[in-house]
Amino acid sequence: MIDLARWDRMLEEAGIRTTRHRLLVLDVLACHRQPISAQQIHAELHERGARIGLTTVYRALTSMAAAGLVHTFTRTEETVYRLCGPAKHHHLICRVCGLVIERVEEDVMAGFRAEEVYGTCAACASPEITP
Ligand SMILES: [Zn+2]
Ligand SMILES: [Zn+2]
Repeated sequence: MIDLARWDRMLEEAGIRTTRHRLLVLDVLACHRQPISAQQIHAELHERGARIGLTTVYRALTSMAAAGLVHTFTRTEETVYRLCGPAKHHHLICRVCGLVIERVEEDVMAGFRAEEVYGTCAACASPEITP
């Protein structure tokens, strides 16, 4: 079920070596639209029966984040990770639920180029509407 060829190409384009651990971590990240923590990834891999240590998950995440393949966010003192699209973008981040939206258009406000914009997503702004 792992789309090996696709992840292989992604890692190659990011300029880092393909390892089984990186592939496993990428595959979990690809299942989530919201950023998730290393612990969560570790737990999911264990559920799938993959034998991989938390330190290894961290190492895979760190190298992929350094290569720009995975983006990191800070949520209540923990770092969470997200596999973003290849287009250059900045992030709209919901303070309430942590939803991340990639915004490709450039936002320049009073000479500032936006990198991360915090706010409230549509679902959190009107909770009576089903998310
Ligand atoms: Zn991103
Ligand atoms: Zn939200």
